[in-house]
Amino acid sequence: MSEQHNTGLPSESTKKKNFIYEIINEDLETNKWNGNIHTRFPPEPNGYLHIGHAKSICLNYGIAKDFQGKFNLRFDDTNPSKEEQEYVDSIIEDAKWLGVEFEDRLFFASDYFEQMYQFAIGLIKKGKAYVCDLNADEIRATRGTLTEPGEESADRSRSIEENLDLFQHMRNGEFKNGEKTLRAKIDMASPNINLRDPIMYRIVHETHQRQGNAWCIYPTYDWAHGLEDSIEKITHSICTLEFENHRPLYDWFLNELGIYHPQQIEFARLNLNYTVMSKRKLLQLVKENYVDGWDDPRMPTISGLRRRGYSSEALRDFAETVGVAKRDALTDISLLEFSIRNDLNKRAQRVMAVLRPLKIVLTNYPEDKVEELEAVNNPEDAAMGKRNIPFSRELFIEQTDFIENPPKGFHRLVPGGEVRLRYAYIIKCDKVIKNENGEVVELRCSFDPETKSGTGTSAKKVKGTIHWVSALQAVPVEVRLYDRLFTIENLASDENWLNFLNPHSLEIIDDALVEPSLQNAKIGEHIQFERNGYFCLDSKFSTQEKLVFNRTVTLKDSWTSKK
Ligand code: ATP
Ligand code: MG
Repeated sequence: MSEQHNTGLPSESTKKKNFIYEIINEDLETNKWNGNIHTRFPPEPNGYLHIGHAKSICLNYGIAKDFQGKFNLRFDDTNPSKEEQEYVDSIIEDAKWLGVEFEDRLFFASDYFEQMYQFAIGLIKKGKAYVCDLNADEIRATRGTLTEPGEESADRSRSIEENLDLFQHMRNGEFKNGEKTLRAKIDMASPNINLRDPIMYRIVHETHQRQGNAWCIYPTYDWAHGLEDSIEKITHSICTLEFENHRPLYDWFLNELGIYHPQQIEFARLNLNYTVMSKRKLLQLVKENYVDGWDDPRMPTISGLRRRGYSSEALRDFAETVGVAKRDALTDISLLEFSIRNDLNKRAQRVMAVLRPLKIVLTNYPEDKVEELEAVNNPEDAAMGKRNIPFSRELFIEQTDFIENPPKGFHRLVPGGEVRLRYAYIIKCDKVIKNENGEVVELRCSFDPETKSGTGTSAKKVKGTIHWVSALQAVPVEVRLYDRLFTIENLASDENWLNFLNPHSLEIIDDALVEPSLQNAKIGEHIQFERNGYFCLDSKFSTQEKLVFNRTVTLKDSWTSKK
């Protein structure tokens, strides 16, 4: 591994940013960490990563990158009952997809169990930890409250020898779940409840997904986390605000052990409106089939957003845009949508697709003729070139682009009115055909050959331009449109959060039509259906026989404008 080179002089990109950057710049000035900067992202493999995690990854990885430091991906796999290999695999995949480079620095907290055990013995020997016979309920009941001190356990006065002996027997598996714990001996009267003899080890007779049955005592988060950071020589241990009150404990353990001592820094977690972000709730949505798995395109998970068509660039841009704060807030999901529109506008190929088709027949266009018309692939990027699209006598347009009795200001097709077909001709609606229920099923139109896009000789101008597909060559596809997963903005504090699931969060249109060039669309490609939004092929349901497209996002922020 190459040496880290830090001049101690912050570059322009490291001066801006946020309060964490300020702390790090100060540390570099005082040479606190000998010029090293080393961060980590420490997920527990008990679920898939969500956009909040993406923010944390981008922050930690961004710091390592900006300061020429290092970044570790470390699994905090200390609880065998909730963790699974599937989650480990998905987290690695998502982190890599986000663009994070951890080289060979992929670590598992469970690989440090022996070392943690030895550290615990060290604390027992110092008289700073003891084996306690109280069960979980009793420990909770004797912890006291914010206004009342806790009660000391009778086992607090056990001799060091007895504690060492009992702890060994705990490890050997001689006690049942919950029968004993190892607790730190700190202060049952501390105003900070986290310091009232917190539990360091619990007995859990369960198979660990990585360690098998090697252990039946498992470290708590508070005990384990600082050790993990210390072992890996992390400099800045960045976590979310709920750990602020745990910092004194983090510091106490490392001070008592006298080992390498990283600095814990807290920032506000990302909360998005109209969705949930707790892994417990996301798991429930998956387990109880409210959604189609962790990667359902409506989920705020990284895998869900990826399947929906979000790019890693957009997620990184979003993480940067929301910034890093010291106070919790609810971020508007439209900010995320802004990031993805911005990114896709630059690189998505434009095509024509009709979501809800209405047939039109151009009565003055030759029956067997097919014209190839030239269309621009991306007006934002000439290098993306042009393509041909077929035009013929029978076409489909969007149902919503025709209104029989239009409101004022409607510039698309109306009876007797004219509109331009994108890349083609101006047409006029001559006749409206209805079914027995009075619904419009077809329009008879005529086209003006002098008005061909780009080459036409006519000076005729119309106000509206609409998209279309040629009936014979169009490809039938399924299109999935998504809406907010929940109907209310802030679900955090609501016990009945499931009552607010949006019943219309997924709309499936199984008879949309797309231009033939889309036959060759590939998974992972971003495509703009003109006027309808950005789309991508669904990686799960799309097949050769039936293409299935997800709408990533609409073209405009229709929500804000509706409010
Ligand atoms: P839970 O939902 O059960 O509280 P968690 O999301 O905190 O779990 P972890 O696996 O412990 O799950 O999270 C890994 C890291 O991601 C932690 O450092 C945590 O602080 C950070 N993190 C989690 N949620 C968010 C969020 N919404 N915004 C920013 N960072 C987050
Ligand atoms: Mg957590």
